[in-house]
Amino acid sequence: MLNEKLTVVFNEVIARNPGEAEFHQAAQEVIECLGPVLTRHPEIGRHKIINRICEPERQIIFRIPWVDDNNEVQINRGFRVEFNSALGPYKGGLRFHPSVYLGIIKFLGFEQIFKNALTGLPIGGGKGGSDFNPKGKSDGEIMRFCQSFMTELYRHIGEHTDVPAGDIGVGGREIGFLFGQYKRITNRYESGVLTGKGLDWGGSLVRTEATGYGSVYFVDEMLKVRGSSFEGKTAVVSGSGNVAIYTSEKIHELGGKVVACSDSNGYIHDRDGIDIELVKQIKEVQRGRISEYVQERKSAKYIEGGNIWEIPCEIAMPSATENEISGKDAKTLVGNGCIAVGEGANMPSTPEAVKVFLGTEIAYGPGKAANAGGVATSALEMQQNASRDSWTFEYTDRRLRAIMKNIHESCYETAEEYGSPGNYVVGANISGFLKVANSMLSMGVI
Ligand code: GLU
Repeated sequence: MLNEKLTVVFNEVIARNPGEAEFHQAAQEVIECLGPVLTRHPEIGRHKIINRICEPERQIIFRIPWVDDNNEVQINRGFRVEFNSALGPYKGGLRFHPSVYLGIIKFLGFEQIFKNALTGLPIGGGKGGSDFNPKGKSDGEIMRFCQSFMTELYRHIGEHTDVPAGDIGVGGREIGFLFGQYKRITNRYESGVLTGKGLDWGGSLVRTEATGYGSVYFVDEMLKVRGSSFEGKTAVVSGSGNVAIYTSEKIHELGGKVVACSDSNGYIHDRDGIDIELVKQIKEVQRGRISEYVQERKSAKYIEGGNIWEIPCEIAMPSATENEISGKDAKTLVGNGCIAVGEGANMPSTPEAVKVFLGTEIAYGPGKAANAGGVATSALEMQQNASRDSWTFEYTDRRLRAIMKNIHESCYETAEEYGSPGNYVVGANISGFLKVANSMLSMGVI
C-alpha cells in the first residue's frame, strides 16, 4: 500500500509521464514496497532517491530510415533509455516489436535497474528498441534496418557507457549486424559494447540458454524451500522464443514435463511432453510459427487463439511478454493446483494476477528476480571480454547457478527482514532498490 509520502512520489511519476501505462505499472509495483524502507532509512526520503530513480538519466529517441526489398523507404522510431548508472554502465536489451513506444522501453528500463542490482554484478539499468516489426522480413531487410539503427545509436553506447543486448525480436543474427556496423563506424573492435555476440567473435557460452536456465534455477530454489522439486511435475511455459525454449529444456533436464507452449497466434498442447528439438527447429532454424509443430507430432493439438493458462499445471512459467496473465488466469492456475510461478518474461502478470498469487500459498517469483540470469550472463560476457578470455560451458553455467541461488537468498531474506516472509516481490524490490539507493547516496546529488 502507498503511504502519504509515496503517494506524492507516485502521482508525480504519473503526471510527468502521461500515457505511459506500462511504466506507471512497473513504478507502482516498486514504490508500493518501499514504505518500510523509508521508515528505516529517512535519509532516502530526504535525498529524494525514489524521485530521482524514477526519472531516467537520459532518454534518446531517433529516426530510423531504411529501404525494404521493394525499394521503398521505410521509417521507424528508435529508443534508448539510459535509466540509472549508479552501479555500472547502463545495461539492458533492445526490443524490436510493433508495440514498442516510450512507455514500454521505460517500464523495461526501470525494471532493469533493480534486476541488474540483484545480480550483484556492476551493471546499471537501461533499455532500448524500436517499433520495427521483424516478422516476415528478409535477412537483407533485417540487416539494413540494424545498420540504420546503429548509425544513430553508436554515438551513445560504449563498453564503459552503455551496453545493449537482445530482447524480444533481437537475437544472435541482429546482434551480429549491430556489432558489424558499430565496428565499421567507430573503427574499433570493442567487444564489450554489446552482449549476446556469436561464439566465434566474443560471445559467451551459456548466454543463449541463460534467461531460461536461470528462471528454472530460481524456481528450483523456491521449490527447495518448500521441500519440493521439478521431478515429476507438469509445467506450462508460454512463448516459444529463446526464453521459453531454454526454460523448457532445463525443466526436462530436472525431471519435469512441459506440456504446452505458445506464440502470439495460439498454443500447442502435447500430453507426451513438448519435443524441444522440434520447437528449436521450427523457431530458431525455420523462423516459423508454433502451429507447424502438430504436422510433425500427432500426439499434439494446436489451439488457435486459445488461452494457454487453462491447461492444468503445477508449475507455470510465463515466458512470452508483459501482462499475459490476467487476474482471471491467475485464479484458473490456482484452481488447477499450480504451486509455483516463475516469470521468464518481464512483468507478465497483471497487478490483479500478482495480487491473486500473493494471496495464496503459491511460490511466486517475479521477473526481476527470476529472469535475471540473462543479464547476469551478459555481465559474465563483459568480464570475459575485458580479460580477453573465454570460459567453458560448465564454469559459466556454475556461475549462473550460483548467481540465481544468491538472488533467491537475498530476496527471501530481505522479505523476512521487512516483515513479508515468502513475498519475493517485496524481497526483490527492496533488495535491488537498497543497493542502488545506497550507491546514489554515496555519490551525492547527481
Ligand atoms: N533483455 C534481457 C532482460 O530483460 C537481457 C538484457 C541483457 O542481457 O542485457 O534482462
